[in-house]
Amino acid sequence: MSTPILPGATVGVLGSGQLGRMFAIAARRMGYRVHTLSPDKDTPTGHIADCEINASYDDLDQVRAFAANIDVVTFEFENVPLATVEAAAAFVPVRPGGAVLHIAQHRLREKTFLAQGGFPVAPFRHIRSSDDLSTALDALGYPAILKTAGFGYDGKGQSKINSADDAVAAWRELGGQEAVLEAFVDFEREVSVVAARGLDGSFAHYGVVDNEHRHHILDITIAPAEVPPSITREAIEITRAVLEKLDVIGVMCVEFFLSRSGQLLINELAPRPHNSGHFTFDANVTSQFEQQLRAVCGLPLGSTEQLRPAAMANLLGDIWQHGEPNWPAACAFPEIKLHLYGKLEARPGRKMGHLTALGGSTQEAATMVRAARHALNTK
Ligand code: AMP
Repeated sequence: MSTPILPGATVGVLGSGQLGRMFAIAARRMGYRVHTLSPDKDTPTGHIADCEINASYDDLDQVRAFAANIDVVTFEFENVPLATVEAAAAFVPVRPGGAVLHIAQHRLREKTFLAQGGFPVAPFRHIRSSDDLSTALDALGYPAILKTAGFGYDGKGQSKINSADDAVAAWRELGGQEAVLEAFVDFEREVSVVAARGLDGSFAHYGVVDNEHRHHILDITIAPAEVPPSITREAIEITRAVLEKLDVIGVMCVEFFLSRSGQLLINELAPRPHNSGHFTFDANVTSQFEQQLRAVCGLPLGSTEQLRPAAMANLLGDIWQHGEPNWPAACAFPEIKLHLYGKLEARPGRKMGHLTALGGSTQEAATMVRAARHALNTK
């Protein structure tokens, strides 16, 4: 095993959003320096980092200069071009590696990797033309979901197809981009597992959590999920196998559908800390962000023990619609933790922050987090 990267060293983060910000908070707490590179200025990660480099991911000279001044690279945003990662990898280790990123940033590659590895996924087809689409709809049936093959998140670049007429419109909307057609899963719920794998192959997970989405964006996470122990075991074993097969060094989230017949199907992989793991900042011995740091620096992984039942509610820009939210009203709940990402502009649908509630039970935490979020829009 290679020698660990010790406190005092500099960790580079590709991307500069809230995930990088929370990573940087964890890293600085442990005495590391953080440099971030992204095309944006005055960013959530940059506010915390020692150094914020403002450059396009395609500016490989800048990427090389960034990489030459740090000890390891990780990322908080998986849609970084592979060439960027390769340019950085000529100077320093990139963890997780470029191969993981390459698979996870492209739905078709991801689904093909999962299906070929024997992992459970909804039936899907590769779509390159409207003829492919009608053949695939004949095979998979209605409804189905058409998604762009690359660069999609939070439901962007996808549409539900209920009829042949919808198919024509959906294909036109994609503008001829390569796509994936997926069978619609009539799920009972959506769950996820955030896990980490160390440089020595050690594995740690945060259990199974329940995720509720609104308009395709994560809204509430409840931890732990109320699922039978057999589902918990199976979801964790699938997650462990995915991380091993991909040789992940770092944190990865596996998102699942749980079908009404009790079958787990993988929806998506995220090769980084995930929104459904934000509660770990307040509720667990080691947060997902500290765990990412430990993994990419080759330190032993920390305990993932959850100290209390927890619930997390996202704060989207919509909450600012009628002016500044009522922060004191949310802070009046003593077991609520407020996280804001320092984003300069509150746009509808934009993730601006989150609340975490700790309770005596998951139900209590979920009720509290909803009440606190509701209080933000009271006078
Ligand atoms: P994605 O961006 O692929 O994670 O999709 C965002 C959300 O759309 C998911 O969390 C689901 O709520 C819904 N969704 C995506 N794919 C499917 C599917 N095949 N069947 C049913 N719902 C889906």
